[in-house]
Amino acid sequence: MKRELTKLYPMVQFKKDTWEIDEFDCASIFLLIGAEKAMVIDCGMGIGDLRGAIEMITDKPLIVVISHGHVDHTGNGRQFDELWIHPADQAAPIPQSLERRRFDTERIAARQKGCIGAPYTMFNLYPYDINVDLRDPEPDEKMPIIHDLNDGQQFDLGGGRIVTAYECPGHSPGEMIFLDEQSRSLFAGDALNFNLGVGSVPLERTLRYMKRMHDLGDKYDGIYNGHHDFRALGMPLDDDCLPTVIELMEEAVAGRYTPCETPSFWGQSIPLTKERVDPMASAPKMYANEEKVRPKRRRVTLRKGRNFLGINPDLIYENDQ
Ligand SMILES: [Zn+2]
Repeated sequence: MKRELTKLYPMVQFKKDTWEIDEFDCASIFLLIGAEKAMVIDCGMGIGDLRGAIEMITDKPLIVVISHGHVDHTGNGRQFDELWIHPADQAAPIPQSLERRRFDTERIAARQKGCIGAPYTMFNLYPYDINVDLRDPEPDEKMPIIHDLNDGQQFDLGGGRIVTAYECPGHSPGEMIFLDEQSRSLFAGDALNFNLGVGSVPLERTLRYMKRMHDLGDKYDGIYNGHHDFRALGMPLDDDCLPTVIELMEEAVAGRYTPCETPSFWGQSIPLTKERVDPMASAPKMYANEEKVRPKRRRVTLRKGRNFLGINPDLIYENDQ
């Protein structure tokens, strides 16, 4: 008998008709329900039956937008009929390699005490089986229609709930953020967090967009990034995150940055060590032509307080290109 895919995601309605669905510490999916339509922001790593879980909450027609084309944000995209993605982030396949998604999921689970990692191997702390629920698409999950998502584009969910998409390139060239003025929330994908990686476009350009995010501040009370490992589920990032990132970027653009001794803690053993190990050395490829779509780049990590910022030192200014 074929087991049903898990729908038991931890989730919280943190504002009226505004949900955060936690894909077992891998990624966050947001659900915004208007009078006529509902918006889904991101599709996670691809664990379980995301659409089924959403349809237990709402039967409104779904508008599915993707903050950026990375492996952990498009994983369950094939469950939906149409997706909105910025043109600069459309080149990667949906979903990306199953092997790589398992690799990333296992590392996150180990770090976050999920279903894998001694002594937690004795317990399934999350209701999924990585060998069943993290999967390749079923034959009936056809490639969705991809629509271009552009700066300033608005989506009317009905009842006065209008969501505006804004470009915010840096983490990826087509990174988008979403402003919902009704719930006074900004959904930032991976454009902002306390361990931010940028460098896909010149840093001075990213800085301009980070300042715009800051200038929009009178329209939102909280910024929700696309993962909840720097904040509790349903809680926004603390208010110091964005100003500190802007400060770090301003220093780098002024040529005054000091690379941090401790490398980024993504994939590092806990506790953090000063050893410069490359945690990604054994990572499977995300997809066949990955190097072409995401060229390898140098990275240095800057730090201020609890903010880490990974930048590309070869791509600070527009004419570095
Ligand atoms: Zn990303």
